[in-house]
Amino acid sequence: RQEIDANGKPVARYIKKGVRDFSFAHTLGEGSYSTVVLGTDRQTLKEYAIKILDKRHIIKEKKVKYVNIEKDTLNRLTEHPGIVRLYYTFQDERSLYFVLDLCKGGELLGVLKRMTTFDEECTRFYGAQILDTIDYMHKRGVIHRDLKPENVLLDSQMHIKITDFGTAKILKSQRKPQNSSGMPPLDATDIPEEERASSFVGTAEYVSPELLTDKNACKASDLWAFGCIIFQLLAGRPPFKAGNEYQTFQKIVALDYDFPAGFPAVARDLVERLLVLDPARRLPIEHIKNHEFFQGIAWGPDLWKRKAPRLKAYVPPPRE
Ligand code: ATP
Repeated sequence: RQEIDANGKPVARYIKKGVRDFSFAHTLGEGSYSTVVLGTDRQTLKEYAIKILDKRHIIKEKKVKYVNIEKDTLNRLTEHPGIVRLYYTFQDERSLYFVLDLCKGGELLGVLKRMTTFDEECTRFYGAQILDTIDYMHKRGVIHRDLKPENVLLDSQMHIKITDFGTAKILKSQRKPQNSSGMPPLDATDIPEEERASSFVGTAEYVSPELLTDKNACKASDLWAFGCIIFQLLAGRPPFKAGNEYQTFQKIVALDYDFPAGFPAVARDLVERLLVLDPARRLPIEHIKNHEFFQGIAWGPDLWKRKAPRLKAYVPPPRE
């Protein structure tokens, strides 16, 4: 807030926002531990999604750790348009409040369900925005660990914003060892083996095989989920799906999936290079960006200035 000090000079003061600074409207959605409500800043009239968490419920269900992870990761990931931004946090006696970017377009999953599938142009655009965001997250030392179309929201421009960082992992310092010349190596992509996460998290259909076999999640685990998402956008269903979680896991570790007839060949090649059991052999981000499927994509800030393509379902070529 701009104020005038004792000498008559203007000064900027940081005032902590609180519940009374917002007016609350309808509920946007409900999670297992939270309610997300449309809120308006009374002063600026800017609209937000305000996530309200019941403190007693969080403590009773032992979810304090996850609430803190979400806050800490979001506070680390504030400079990218592909991440739901956390503007303010505050609390009252009963609840915790997270003031977030409002995503008026809802979940990517909902849009996909309405469309049944996405055509190649839409898949390329949304796939590119998701990958650009994963790249940023990984460079900031965050593994999401639960990427799926439900956790990809859409803003009013129909651009993506990744959410739900409650099960993310913040990697310890990624500083590289000095090489013999005493200079840091030039290639910043070959970061040594990162600290591994040993708890089971995620959603059955998108869980990577290394998490199931070695209880290890690494950056490449997010790229497995990315492969599942590309498959799902074009096919209308995730690659690994069975009657129950156990059967889904069995399919994942056996790499037991099929492409529907007419699945585009270039996208198939990309998916096959992502759905690779050994995380070390999975296509790394820089190679994904250069894959033929993403030909013509301008990575970085320009990707976020583009108009979203008109939504169209994929029409497979007629069979001979
Ligand atoms: P769970 O906690 O069970 O995993 P969740 O992660 O979906 O569920 P929340 O993140 O609390 O829970 O979100 C609840 C619902 O609110 C979601 O279904 C989503 O559609 C909606 N929502 C969440 N964040 C936003 C946002 N920034 N803008 C608009 N809607 C949102």
